[in-house]
Amino acid sequence: MIDYIIEDCDQFSQEDRDKMFNLIAMHKKTGKEHGIRLCEKDNKITLSDHCVGAKCHISPKKFAKAICPEGTKEIGSFHTHPKIGYLPSPLDIIVMLDEGEKLSCIGTDLYPDEEKEKFHRLIDCHEIKSRDLKRLGKELRSTEDKDKREQVIDSIVGVLSRHEYAYDLLKGRCYMEQSNNPKRRIWSEKKKKYIETFI
Ligand SMILES: [Zn+2]
Repeated sequence: MIDYIIEDCDQFSQEDRDKMFNLIAMHKKTGKEHGIRLCEKDNKITLSDHCVGAKCHISPKKFAKAICPEGTKEIGSFHTHPKIGYLPSPLDIIVMLDEGEKLSCIGTDLYPDEEKEKFHRLIDCHEIKSRDLKRLGKELRSTEDKDKREQVIDSIVGVLSRHEYAYDLLKGRCYMEQSNNPKRRIWSEKKKKYIETFI
């Protein structure tokens, strides 16, 4: 039995939730990260075309192939991480700030391999909370100058390294869990220590 535990993710349709969870399952088979853009219209979030490839979210050029449908506005992205990495990595945050993404959703699979018959998938969506990061993001987007951009990125890395805990920098927007063992809830057990989640 597949069970969903959803908190405040009603901006996503059931079909799109299924698609994202399928990308997490695909990740396991292919060993690649899978990414997709999140597009907004009338307060609903829809998905762009699927982008396949190793770290496709990291390369804006490759990721640019995933385009939001006409009439929608790009607001962020979803991509998969290996186990436990349910938070955006430092590089994810830099890309988020550079592209002006409001929302970053990460999908991960939480059961160890030896428990193949079980699965528990988690999608966790975050916004940037830190004012310092928001300000640096604006600075980064406002310049094409390579040296200046490097300086700003250094400052972003500085902010990230000064904060040990993710909740100082990020604000959880919503999360979804898909499981054949719904009794096992992860959210409350999740460690918030940011440095452990760097991928
Ligand atoms: Zn990532």
